[in-house]
Amino acid sequence: MPAYICRTCGVQYAPTPVPPEHCPICEDERQYVGWNGQQWTTLEELRAEGRRNTLTELEPGLLQLATQPSVAIGQRALIAQTAGGNVMWDCVSLVDDGSVHALRERGGLSAIAISHPHFYAAMVSWSAAFDDCPIYVHADDAEWVRYRSPGLQLWVGDTREILPGVTLINTGGHFRGSTALHWAEGADSRGLLLVGDSLTVVMDRRYLGFMYSYPNLIPLPADSVRRIAASVRPFAFERIYGAWDGRTVSSAGKDAVERSAERYIRFLHQLP
Ligand SMILES: [Zn+2]
Ligand SMILES: [Zn+2]
Repeated sequence: MPAYICRTCGVQYAPTPVPPEHCPICEDERQYVGWNGQQWTTLEELRAEGRRNTLTELEPGLLQLATQPSVAIGQRALIAQTAGGNVMWDCVSLVDDGSVHALRERGGLSAIAISHPHFYAAMVSWSAAFDDCPIYVHADDAEWVRYRSPGLQLWVGDTREILPGVTLINTGGHFRGSTALHWAEGADSRGLLLVGDSLTVVMDRRYLGFMYSYPNLIPLPADSVRRIAASVRPFAFERIYGAWDGRTVSSAGKDAVERSAERYIRFLHQLP
């Protein structure tokens, strides 16, 4: 039975003989159902369409995995090559032999960690390709997991160190279980923060945005933005990598979070 993949959000569902009727992730007000109605695909179909993954080095110890032509939301995955093993941050919907082989040559995957449901993608197939490596999803988002696999690890609490120096931070905001990843040894030990949609690196790449829904343009309340900023404040980081190709705050990342939260809340309150 195929594990169907939603064409609009790119999330893979547990195998069924026929495609599911609904995608609750797309029907939620943070996403949307495709304008031509709910459509599904499969890994085999995505490969047959000629899509391929490329693996590129962004800086020493940090790889980007991206699909061309892009699928659904079109996010990238990032791979932190840490002393304790490689961690895939967020995920893509296409799994192909070329990129699995390329990752194996770089030590495989020890863990997958996901920021929030929009980026679950084919996390189960990626885990299966690497000996059912753990997939860390915050327990507050458990209701959104559509395909439970042997690797699924629902974690609870504010932070969780999954490998030495690799810490998941529950930021809340976009989803209750929304998570960011802090890698202390990244950027020559100045620290890297990898983010999903609760903090997003915006187009000027000096600021971050904080939205409940991006496609439907629903802002987050001030309290949520304060909580997001407070959740990452204890951690040192120089750079911030977002979910999209090129979306990087390349220096003084901590200052960028603080000034972005301040600006966002100022505009929410219509202050000058
Ligand atoms: Zn969907
Ligand atoms: Zn999202």
